[in-house]
Amino acid sequence: MDRRKFINLSGLGLTSFSIPNFIPSITDLNRIQPIVASTWDAGLRANVAAWDVLKKGGTALDAVEQGVMVTESEINCCVGLDANPDRDGIVTLDASIMDHEFNCGSVAFLERIKHPIAVARKVMEKSPHVFLVGAGAQAFALANGFNLESGELSEQAKKNYKEWLKQSKYQPIINVEKNQSVAYLDPAYNAPKKLMDGNWNHDTIGMIAMDQMGNLSGSCTTSGAGFKMRGRVGDSPIIGAGLYVDNEVGAVVATGQGEDVIRVAGASAVVEWMRQGKSPEEACRLVVEKVNRIKKDKAKDIQVCFVAINKKGEVGAYSLQKGFNFSVYNNTGNHLNDASYLF
Ligand code: ASP
Repeated sequence: MDRRKFINLSGLGLTSFSIPNFIPSITDLNRIQPIVASTWDAGLRANVAAWDVLKKGGTALDAVEQGVMVTESEINCCVGLDANPDRDGIVTLDASIMDHEFNCGSVAFLERIKHPIAVARKVMEKSPHVFLVGAGAQAFALANGFNLESGELSEQAKKNYKEWLKQSKYQPIINVEKNQSVAYLDPAYNAPKKLMDGNWNHDTIGMIAMDQMGNLSGSCTTSGAGFKMRGRVGDSPIIGAGLYVDNEVGAVVATGQGEDVIRVAGASAVVEWMRQGKSPEEACRLVVEKVNRIKKDKAKDIQVCFVAINKKGEVGAYSLQKGFNFSVYNNTGNHLNDASYLF
């Protein structure tokens, strides 16, 4: 029984005393503990903002939007406008968001807008469409009150680009997102100030959450792959690949080599394994194993990772290569976890 039904019934004078069967329902309500999970150790900082929404009884949708906006705003961060550019020297951003009722919105190949995730939400809520790209996505953002930023590369991105131009070779770097700072390995970490200090190097943050009503939502935002071909779009804005939410079953987000997540309809495939009774970690593992089978001897050159949450609020993750970590904030605190992996 959901909270609204309970309130309606109690308003009619039907309480747990008049109908004993209501007692388990009330207990069920009390059992719904909000939880948020996000990719990589950068997720620790993003989780703080998401948890702030969840603990006040806010929606999972607001939580996953507010959470990843932290990462999009971080200075010298590789998510958002400070990220590495494409091979033509221009930063292009992709993002997606999905709620508990199959509403979803995405943007891709978006330039000079600071919060692609917020634009994706506007696409979901204020347009008749699901997915806007490029100049159209930018025009939509401007029409909805977003500012056009300068488009100048961050100092770090300028250096990285200059370095990259020496060889001009596109090569995915496994676990490029992972923060090397040992300070973040403290599982008790949840102090926003401290979490903001440090160096980071990641392209994507994905976040999934369950709120106090038991509803699930997810978000994903990225600069994609550094020095990608102009026009390249990865898995992150593709509903069913980088992100999927089915409120009856669970929510899943991906990170890593987007091309190979798209190939297996990654996030949606993980949800379907959970529907068949697999735990979040098992479901993630089964899809990672499929990527491995498809890629054969090339699997060792890429990273693919999933984080999943089911309707019971259980979280699990799995990656192709060692080195993927994910951050989980629940009522016991903000925890960094190493994912299980194939290699
Ligand atoms: N999945 C992202 C993409 O391929 C990149 C990442 O997760 O680092 O665009």
